[in-house]
Amino acid sequence: MTARRPIIAIDGPAGAGKSTIAKRIAERLNYIYVDTGAMYRAVAWKSLQDNIPISEEEKITALAESMKIRFDRTNGQKIFADGTDITEAIRTPEVTQLSSPVSAISGVRRRLVEIQREMGAGGGVVMEGRDIGTVVFPDAEVKVFLTASPEERARRRLLELSEKGIQSSLEDLIAQMRERDQRDSSREDSPLRKADDAVAIDTDGTTIDQVVDAISALCRKRTCECHCTG
Ligand code: C5P
Repeated sequence: MTARRPIIAIDGPAGAGKSTIAKRIAERLNYIYVDTGAMYRAVAWKSLQDNIPISEEEKITALAESMKIRFDRTNGQKIFADGTDITEAIRTPEVTQLSSPVSAISGVRRRLVEIQREMGAGGGVVMEGRDIGTVVFPDAEVKVFLTASPEERARRRLLELSEKGIQSSLEDLIAQMRERDQRDSSREDSPLRKADDAVAIDTDGTTIDQVVDAISALCRKRTCECHCTG
């Protein structure tokens, strides 16, 4: 029987650099990259489309259960909900803010964690989110918890938004990020926290390459099946 390939779990707060770094690691290893935040955003987007208020937890859970969420990696990284390309639509400030309370609904988490486990079942996956190392794959071979100061994280988000032509202020972004972190860390179901056996990496003042190299080194150390070349 062949052993499954490793799972690399990357968790941390918004703007810590998870997506950029997870994508780079996945490219380097030829692993599948899974952005679980995009899945919570997809449910938030759909609840806005269908005008379901956040207080209607059962209806939002039903949405999550009936929606077909699919990633398409043939032409960049795209996400589809029931056949509609929502890659750009899930990045608006409105969806970003709503994704946090939506992700605190246990029924939504149950459904999305189920899909994430299916996606990662064969291994060879770099999965990023808030609860990958603690809940989705507690036995992942490599677990990383990325952090950065709120100011640095907000600065990165400002840059990202301005590249998309969305205007915002640094102060507003710092406030929104603090609010989102606070909610994500204090919710009852699967709060954002570092797994005991995760390695914490602070990305303040480091380059992307340095972090990718550090994680590659960790892969080599943790498992000889991780064919990192770094
Ligand atoms: O990572 P991203 O900022 O796109 O995630 C959007 C929201 O989805 C987060 O604020 C968080 O509330 C939620 N999330 C989560 N668990 C995950 C990934 C994201 O609760 N594994």
